[in-house]
Formats: sequence, structure tokens, C-alpha cells
Amino acid sequence: MTYELQLLAYAPNSLEPYIDEQTMIIHHTKHHQSYVDKLNKALEKYPELMGKPLSELMKNIESVSEEIRTAVRNNAGGILNHDFFFSLLKKGVAQEGEIFTEIKNKFGSFANFQEQFSNSASTLFGSGWTWLVLKNNRLEILNTVGHENPISQGAIPLLVIDVWEHAYYLKYQNRRPEYIQAFFSIIDWKKVNELFLKYKQ
Ligand code: MN
Repeated sequence: MTYELQLLAYAPNSLEPYIDEQTMIIHHTKHHQSYVDKLNKALEKYPELMGKPLSELMKNIESVSEEIRTAVRNNAGGILNHDFFFSLLKKGVAQEGEIFTEIKNKFGSFANFQEQFSNSASTLFGSGWTWLVLKNNRLEILNTVGHENPISQGAIPLLVIDVWEHAYYLKYQNRRPEYIQAFFSIIDWKKVNELFLKYKQ
């Protein structure tokens, strides 16, 4: 079975003014769709991989045939990362839950966490993603380039921001830090907390 574009759980204008409608539509129906199409194309000759969970493909990326490894890394990663990113965006969710205690324990305060996360995202060179992950059962901020996903290095994603230019350029142009600041107004902390409780040992 071929892969399909996962629908958004909300209207593309529902994140305004933080992320504008046009950016959401192009990001979802053009960029995201193209990763789905390219993965399906790359796996045409590898039916045994077609339809496998994307997380499984990315966890075992080194065992994928070299002929298609880069295509799978870029496009399975692209789908996985975008599905995750889009699923964690929502306006008006309260900053509460057990993860906030853990964030304070680890980073000293929420403000410190936000500053470190934002610095990491604004200084990431080129195209990539900034993540809050659980690694060895501890919170950590890390960056990945291209469409790499932290599960390839044994970490569990809890939160992510897409800092490819296509994610913000129409509205923010070169002002990536403004986009990152806006992102903090549309994080679905309820879902992030659920992931934290699910995977924390
Ligand atoms: Mn993107």
C-alpha cells in the first residue's frame, strides 16, 4: 500500500496570525505532498518496504539499500517530521502538565528552556528541525539537518519546530527568530505532555 498525505486536523487558517493560511496550505499540500509522492516513487522497486511504518524506516535507515537510502531518509523523514510537527500545533493550549516540572528541573525555568530552544533553532545552519526529545530518559534539545529524525539516534521526539525557510518565509522572510517566537504561541502542550508521560520511565 502506498503512502498518503495525512490530513490536517484543523483549518489552515486556524493558526493565524502566528502561521498564516497561505504558508500552511503550500507547506501541507505542496511540500509535504511532494515527500509522499517521492517516497512512493523511491519504493516502487522495493515493495517489501512500501507501507512500513515511517518510524521503522527511519530507525533502520542504515539497513535500507544504498540505491534508495538518501531518497528514503529525505522523504520518509519528511513525511514523519511534518506529520509530527503539524499534529502539535494548536492555539490557546495552557502551559501545564508534568512536563513543565521536568522542564524546570532540567533547564532551571521555562524561560531558560524557551531561550535555549529558540537559540538552537535560530542558529541552525540551513534547513533542519529543532527538537525537544527524551534521550536516556532525560529531556534534551537537539537539531537535525535535512529531514533527519532523532529516532535514528535513539531519542524520542516530544516537540519539534520546522525551520526550513518554506515554513516561514512568506510571512517572516529572513526573520526566523520572529517565527520561532510565534511558534511558542501555538504549541499543543497537552499533546506534548501526553507524549512525555507515555515515554518517560
Ligand atoms: Mn517543512
